[in-house]
Amino acid sequence: MKITDTIAAISTSAGNSGIGVIRVSGDDAIKIVDKVFKSGKEGKKLCDVKSHTVNYGYILDGDKILDQVLVLVMKNPHSYTGEDTVEIDCHGGMLILQKVLELVIRNGAKTAAPGEFTKRAFLNGRIDLSQAEAVMDVINSSNDFALNSSLAQLKGGVSEKIKEIRSEIIYHIAFIESALDDPEHISLDGYDEEISNMLSKNLTRMKKLIDTFDNGRIMKEGIHTVILGKPNAGKSSLLNLMLGEERAIVTDIEGTTRDTLEENINLNGLSLKIIDTAGIRNTEDKVEQIGVNKAKEIAANADLIIYVIDGSRKIDENDLEIIELIKEKQSIVLLNKSDIELQAELDNIDKLSKEDIIEFSAKEGIGMEQLEDRIREMFYSGKVRYNDQIYITNARHKEALENSYNSLLKVKDSVENMMPEDFYSIDLMDAYEQLGLIIGESVEDDLVNEIFSKFCMGK
Ligand code: GDP
Repeated sequence: MKITDTIAAISTSAGNSGIGVIRVSGDDAIKIVDKVFKSGKEGKKLCDVKSHTVNYGYILDGDKILDQVLVLVMKNPHSYTGEDTVEIDCHGGMLILQKVLELVIRNGAKTAAPGEFTKRAFLNGRIDLSQAEAVMDVINSSNDFALNSSLAQLKGGVSEKIKEIRSEIIYHIAFIESALDDPEHISLDGYDEEISNMLSKNLTRMKKLIDTFDNGRIMKEGIHTVILGKPNAGKSSLLNLMLGEERAIVTDIEGTTRDTLEENINLNGLSLKIIDTAGIRNTEDKVEQIGVNKAKEIAANADLIIYVIDGSRKIDENDLEIIELIKEKQSIVLLNKSDIELQAELDNIDKLSKEDIIEFSAKEGIGMEQLEDRIREMFYSGKVRYNDQIYITNARHKEALENSYNSLLKVKDSVENMMPEDFYSIDLMDAYEQLGLIIGESVEDDLVNEIFSKFCMGK
């Protein structure tokens, strides 16, 4: 479909502000604005300027100056919509903006519907549908966490995952179809195992994605937090303090490794999965070395490390090794046992920034509030994330993923029940199409219209 209309709208919010932007997009955008623009430089026309330039001048209604403006010219395809786009930076009064918009409309543009610029970006292949939806989510984000996940989606994080899964599914559809067409050359012997592997891999992936939608589940999974420190530094005491009665213990799972323990803690709405290396100190003999080795292994996968310094002892080799270990990770340093006379000297350790160290006492509960604040701050500023994964934040995406997941389960059933291979293709195709809905391939027009109608004006 070729879009020929040129659209225009006020793209900044209603109300008076320093500047306001009128955006014009379409084949005639430059020509239309040229009709009402008088350059500050005698005789300069917008149709002659280079793309991505800012041009100073006036908007004229006949002989009358409406406003003094800056005009940005972005030629296709290098604009948000992929079309010729002009943005007029006016003064931000609503009356001025409306008058300039009316003038642009009188000269040939049509008023843009809500979301129409982004819809054009989608129709012109500049962004896919999940990215288009992310644009709206970015605008509506009310906290850093929401903003970060929308930005990840806008960058194509969700689309990438979906495309990976789709490409595996389409490979199998194509393979089955070709094998059925040409049984002499393409054998389906042993194929069941191959498709079963693909199914279990992708069912797991999809399940993970679906689960990210469910905030409760994310909360349950928690920020993988590892408490590090020498034996006797006070790690267990810290854990006990954090697990205090006022906090809910969600689960208590014996870790797969013999001597690690995982505890889920809810810290005023933020969930931590604490991986404790408590067992280490029981092996009194080779203690320290084992401790550090083990810590290295666990710390590598942590989202957050809490390093407990034993304030009652001098800093030693083990501490230095831990300090080395945490410098690549998000970490919080606690100077524990600050209720007694401190022996640990931190002044000469340049890898530790003194302001970042929290004076702590696991015994007396000193510093706990600061620790909680620090974790919250790291989380909401986006420094610490839940496992660094992609989130599904859009209900439409979740539904499509679930439908696709169920179709793959049907394929799995067919394989297990040794149904003929053409049975597989039908459900595979269904799974493929459902995923396509997320990124806007094979979507119906009315769905596209519904999504973009939720956008604000001028976007
Ligand atoms: P872990 O080996 O690192 O798990 O250390 P523990 O939590 O078992 O503590 C080791 C010893 O230090 C115990 O005797 C604790 O009572 C003591 N301890 C822990 N935290 C503090 C603290 O903040 N102040 C004082 N004075 N003693 C503490």
